[in-house]
Amino acid sequence: MRDDLGLDSHVQEGDTVHVLAEFKDDVCYITDQSGLLIINPDLLLSGTTVVSSVFCMRKSILKEKFKGCDSRNVQMLYGSIIHSVFQQMLRKKLCTAEGIIQESTTIVKQLSNLLEMYANQMTEDKVMEEIKSYIPQMISWLAQYTRFGSSFTVKKQSDSDVQVTKVCDIEENMWSPRYGIKGKIDLTVEARIKNEPGTTTLPLELKTGKTSYSVEHKGQVTLYSMMCGDRRKDPQKGMLLYLKEPSMKIIPADHIHQKGLIQLRNEMAYYISRQVIKSTEDSEQKTFTLGRLPDPISNIRACQKCPQLINCSIYQRQVEGRSADSSGMSGLVNESLGHLNLDHMTYFIQWCLMLDLESQLGQSKKTLADIWCKSSVKREEAGLCLSGMVLLSESCEEIGQDAVVLTFSRHSQYPKYVLILAV
Ligand code: SF4
Repeated sequence: MRDDLGLDSHVQEGDTVHVLAEFKDDVCYITDQSGLLIINPDLLLSGTTVVSSVFCMRKSILKEKFKGCDSRNVQMLYGSIIHSVFQQMLRKKLCTAEGIIQESTTIVKQLSNLLEMYANQMTEDKVMEEIKSYIPQMISWLAQYTRFGSSFTVKKQSDSDVQVTKVCDIEENMWSPRYGIKGKIDLTVEARIKNEPGTTTLPLELKTGKTSYSVEHKGQVTLYSMMCGDRRKDPQKGMLLYLKEPSMKIIPADHIHQKGLIQLRNEMAYYISRQVIKSTEDSEQKTFTLGRLPDPISNIRACQKCPQLINCSIYQRQVEGRSADSSGMSGLVNESLGHLNLDHMTYFIQWCLMLDLESQLGQSKKTLADIWCKSSVKREEAGLCLSGMVLLSESCEEIGQDAVVLTFSRHSQYPKYVLILAV
């Protein structure tokens, strides 16, 4: 392994590594052209978390630590509802503005959306107004990139480079212990691509904000493309759609980008798995302290708008012992902590330590990783699953909105019984 590629900087004794490279005489080379090294791959990090660390890894780790503490803002609420509308439009092959508006009304009235609207002091009318501003773009995308529904069959065939021929899945949930990443793909589609034979199944990532084709967005598509390769033929690409214009491009998942993203993921995994440091004193008493975070980026303009500023500042002051002048951010740190006294910060640090200890205990039980690390028979013995189950029929019975009945049977080599499961 070549050190100048920075691959081994975060490997330590006791770590598990997954080498994705070709071995010849027990030697493999990981270079810019081929091969990947994934450190502690059983720790699955979400694709969005990995790509958000491009700008500030410290912020991504703090966000991961305190996820669930912050409520979604109005833009996030709009984005989530428009995603649902777009996905349902494709699932139900809705091609008219009336059909899409009717579906939007149902989505807006879902309890989870109503609660978020209430929290953000938004009205249904305001949200509908925002959705309606995207409907012409949705219809124009359908006409340009698909031939769904009768409305478009009479139109001249689009001359775009891509034609989506089928929607295979919506919010496809991917766990990839091969790469140590996970994520939910907005849309998994089958598409016909100009100058390529047949069709390809690939991920489509939808964005509702400004068109940017940023490193983060392209990186997210690359990670999803890699995960798709775990389940079906590796597409080596994905699609990135900005609905506001609309603008869509195919993003190639080049090896050099895959390697960069896996290095980021490895670095994040290193910090996340070392958030508690255990030391044993002479008296054999164990002491636990908080681990360190990646260094702050100290970009005053970005940091003063960062939602993690207070958490980041307390870490700088209380955990990392950065003195008031050692950081370019000292003024901002002082300002952001001005309303807190030492007791507040000590309490916060204790609380963080408890959270990290709890999370570490959860990781050590490895119940999630057991799904791919232990046999289903062993897990059944521990009461964690039923092994050898086979889905009896491809078809499933719908029982109301978003609920289906699936019927499973034991595989012939297991004691026979039938399980009926409603999900
Ligand atoms: S305040 Fe700045 S350094 Fe700290 S997490 Fe946010 S962006 Fe990163």
